Amino acid sequence: MANDTTNKMRVEYADVEYSLKELKDIKYALDQSMIVAITDQQGKMIFVNDHFCKISKYTREELIGQDHRILNSGHHPKSFFRDMWRTIGKGKVWKGEICNRAKDGSRYWVQTTIVPFLNEQGKPYQYIAIRSDITAQKSMEQIRHLAYHDELTGLPNRRMFNASLAEAVESSARAKSKLALFFIDINRFKHLNDSLGHSIGDLFLTQVAERLTGLSGGNTIYRVGGDEFMITMQHADDYAKIKELAEAAIHLFSESFRVERHEYYATISIGISIYPYHGTTAEDLVKNADTAMYEAKQSVESSFRIYHPAMNANSEELLVLETKLRRAIEKNQLQLYYQPKIDLHTGKPIGMEALIRWFDAESGYVPPSIFIPLAEERGLISAIGDWTLLTACRQIKAWQSEQLPSLRVAVNISANQLMQGTFVQKLQKTLNDTGVPPHLLELEITENSMMQNTQQLMQTLVQLKAMGVTIAIDDFGTGYSSLNYLKQFPIDVLKIDQSFVRDLAVDGPAFVAAIIQLAHALNLRVVAEGVEQKIELRLLRDHGCDFVQGYLYSKPLPPDEFKRYIKNGF
Ligand code: C2E
Ligand code: MG
Ligand code: MG
Repeated sequence: MANDTTNKMRVEYADVEYSLKELKDIKYALDQSMIVAITDQQGKMIFVNDHFCKISKYTREELIGQDHRILNSGHHPKSFFRDMWRTIGKGKVWKGEICNRAKDGSRYWVQTTIVPFLNEQGKPYQYIAIRSDITAQKSMEQIRHLAYHDELTGLPNRRMFNASLAEAVESSARAKSKLALFFIDINRFKHLNDSLGHSIGDLFLTQVAERLTGLSGGNTIYRVGGDEFMITMQHADDYAKIKELAEAAIHLFSESFRVERHEYYATISIGISIYPYHGTTAEDLVKNADTAMYEAKQSVESSFRIYHPAMNANSEELLVLETKLRRAIEKNQLQLYYQPKIDLHTGKPIGMEALIRWFDAESGYVPPSIFIPLAEERGLISAIGDWTLLTACRQIKAWQSEQLPSLRVAVNISANQLMQGTFVQKLQKTLNDTGVPPHLLELEITENSMMQNTQQLMQTLVQLKAMGVTIAIDDFGTGYSSLNYLKQFPIDVLKIDQSFVRDLAVDGPAFVAAIIQLAHALNLRVVAEGVEQKIELRLLRDHGCDFVQGYLYSKPLPPDEFKRYIKNGF
């Protein structure tokens, strides 16, 4: 830009004098650090600013004189741009969200306003397009939708169910009201699938979903598994209301289903559990509704059962396990295994995750997914967490003294552990005592735990970051974190939950691609966990994933074997 004297300005390559109003538009856009382009009547670019070059990854020389369509990503139908041209052709302002393609093939989203510049006859002679980058926001929206809905029926899925039920339990607790959970299972669905084929089975399920949706009356319906549906009813304070809904659901199945040329009569079994009588946690409520559902299955016809404690009998087992775990901690019988993380560009290990292992003399291998939640509930997590950090740090030191290449070790930190006021000091002490440089330590925090007590979490993360440790969000995609938190928290890495990697080969890469796009828009690196198959690896590489971890490369290994793995060139 130059020549700003007589309220007229010449824009580079745009040999035109602008009116005062036009100059104001241009100045505003440039001042606001927007992405700005000016095109001629045909859509040829005559001016682009630095932000435009940066996001599109083209140089100014490559863009000037080019048709704007070189940025077309193929995402929008032709009619989208036809409508846009119709609007601006008439001299009106157009606003919308556009997905463009950068020079390197990657896509980005821009919130766009196009203002026509009009000549004396009121006809547009140029257009200024003012944009802001909304890639991160769009990816987040897409992630949320794909993650929380079932593709076949469009109903909220199991993930959504888990998140919502936990919330519903909390709000019922606060309001001191009852919550009823209906577990609906279609009888002999497997038989239908096996005899008429999966595509008929799918069509049938879609119809079931439609019928159930009609029933909802303000209650949410989820598809949580093949032929399993859940309904949550809040304010279920009246037993008659619960019974009414169960009977209405059963009534829906009194008519036959017509699927292509088949007529099919289906029956259902419903199990019901009620908060707080049959459990005060989401898990207990689901477990007990499930038990009640199996009771209902005893009947040949459609029926429902409300949970009764006599249907179940086993919290003693957990007590026994807790006692054993306490002993294992005291006797130092826990172990850490290490699983390599591989750089997708070089194929070489760049770090590892430490995973806790417990082999009990009687019970055998007890997976962490069982004993970690138990430890959290029974106040043992702090002792386990301290031990894990110390052991991992000592291991780093031991490998360093054996001249093994220095690789970063990621340790899983449970939310409770992180939220103890003393966590940062304790960690600092462990690093000092063992002499481990902070950059060799990464902390993995699950996405779900990010949602608790965000103020305090933020402070803790900032302190950790200042110490120099790396922070990763684990099991990403399964939680409810907001874009704002992701932007604000000092995070370095997102780990895509393995359930999404598992779905890759079946459902296609849309979801994983959206996470990678989001992460990169926020300057984060991405690890995909649970990679078992070559096809998963290929799709992840195609979509720009940075690192992978999974059985395809190696299972978690005890320290000696891990050392061999690294030494033998893996
Ligand atoms: P996570 O942090 O998401 O760990 C990844 C899990 O995926 C591990 O399960 C790992 O063994 C498993 N895995 C890795 N590659 C593959 C694969 O290719 N296929 C399959 N099917 N699985 C794979 P693991 O060891 O059973 O740990 C489960 C969870 O327990 C961990 O999930 C983590 O949340 C928690 N955990 C493990 N160790 C610790 C610990 O020291 N402290 C805390 N607080 N939590 C821990
Ligand atoms: Mg982890
Ligand atoms: Mg994980």
